[in-house]
Amino acid sequence: MALIVQKFGGSSVEGVDRIKNVASRVGTYRLRGDKVVTVVSAMRGVTDNLVKLAAEITPMPNDREMDMLLATGEQTTIALLAMALHSLDLPAVSLTGAQAGIVTDGVHSKAKINNITPGQIHAMLDKGNVVIVAGFQGQTSDGRITTLGRGGSDLTAIALASVLKADLCQIYTDVDGVYTADPRVVPNARKLNEISYDEMMELASLGTKVMQSRSVEFAKKFNVKFEVRSSLNNNPGTMVMEETESMEAVVVRGVSLDSNQAKMTVTAVPDKPGHAARVFTALAEAAVNVDMIVQNVSHGTATPATDISFTADAPDLPRARQVIADLKDEIGYASVEGDETIAKVSVVGVGMRTHPGVAAKVFETLGIANINIGMISTSEIKISVVVEASQGEEATRVLHEAFFGDDKEG
Ligand code: ADP
Ligand code: ASP
Ligand code: MG
Repeated sequence: MALIVQKFGGSSVEGVDRIKNVASRVGTYRLRGDKVVTVVSAMRGVTDNLVKLAAEITPMPNDREMDMLLATGEQTTIALLAMALHSLDLPAVSLTGAQAGIVTDGVHSKAKINNITPGQIHAMLDKGNVVIVAGFQGQTSDGRITTLGRGGSDLTAIALASVLKADLCQIYTDVDGVYTADPRVVPNARKLNEISYDEMMELASLGTKVMQSRSVEFAKKFNVKFEVRSSLNNNPGTMVMEETESMEAVVVRGVSLDSNQAKMTVTAVPDKPGHAARVFTALAEAAVNVDMIVQNVSHGTATPATDISFTADAPDLPRARQVIADLKDEIGYASVEGDETIAKVSVVGVGMRTHPGVAAKVFETLGIANINIGMISTSEIKISVVVEASQGEEATRVLHEAFFGDDKEG
């Protein structure tokens, strides 16, 4: 008898038939005697609709009420799935994040899990129930409902698997696993049998939305091995796990596209020590997640000035603009310009540590395809470039072809 944590994403619970399908899959494990904890997301599109509804009421919804609203999406699904299990004569009980003992900090919409007290889950499991937990939500110690960031049901599942010391953690979605690129963008992308935490984390934070990046960070920290697989068939999925020696033999594990990025440029910033620090400290304090930074060579001699550009998540652009506007008198730059017509394309692989030449191949490939590179950033295991938004998909396809084109076997 094993303890299994299974998570079903929005596409896997989209509509009544899919919920019934999930119930019968969960039921299979329960009937063979396993203890099953099932985490579910809101039905596909529901969270986005709730966000839109709030925006129709006010452009700046109150943080607490926004989380109260968004948490309802998952609450619908847990109750429906419990009913679907009951109609298969299987005992099941649904729990909100708070009822499941998930305690978070108070940062609404991006809350971190502080601890989980799984007493209620254990009690329900011991009575033979399938325990269905609402993903993406928790509660502060003073009783406010919080949410864990978009895609946060992945984090709920991985954190529960860790705390419950689950024998198996399965993340069910609408693709067979993690691919070398988004199969919707690159039709000949292929499924990976395994991938390291670090690679999955990089890919996820660079736009590969199949897993929430914070959930992978958590999995790495607490060494929770998990499988990403399809809820629509029985094909084996992708194991996300600790790096093994053989993984370094593969230079590039995947190509990622992030079309949800924006670039900001602050022009003619007086070139004095401390100014860049002031800008980026203020952005960090406002929780704007800055990725690439480029500072031009200083121009002018009497009062040298420089342009500073950076990229951030597109939804953070208005906040970033406000932060920089507030610094205008203190710093005295000329203007601030925002550009949302960019895309970030990245290649990721732990093998880059030991195989030189990847950057050259990226630049050469994009050059041949006539795709202009706006910004570049690299780390030990990734190379990212910013291109025109309209060329993001093409850049992803040519880079995939360059690194995986003749590798039919994997
Ligand atoms: P869920 O609703 O199950 O949470 P998501 O929409 O969050 O599902 O994630 C699944 C989607 O992620 C897939 O439909 C696929 O288009 C997309 N995706 C992007 N990049 C990849 C990749 N490298 N491998 C697999 N899927 C990817
Ligand atoms: N429903 C939430 C979202 O759409 C959480 C999740 O699906 O994991 O972001
Ligand atoms: Mg998801």
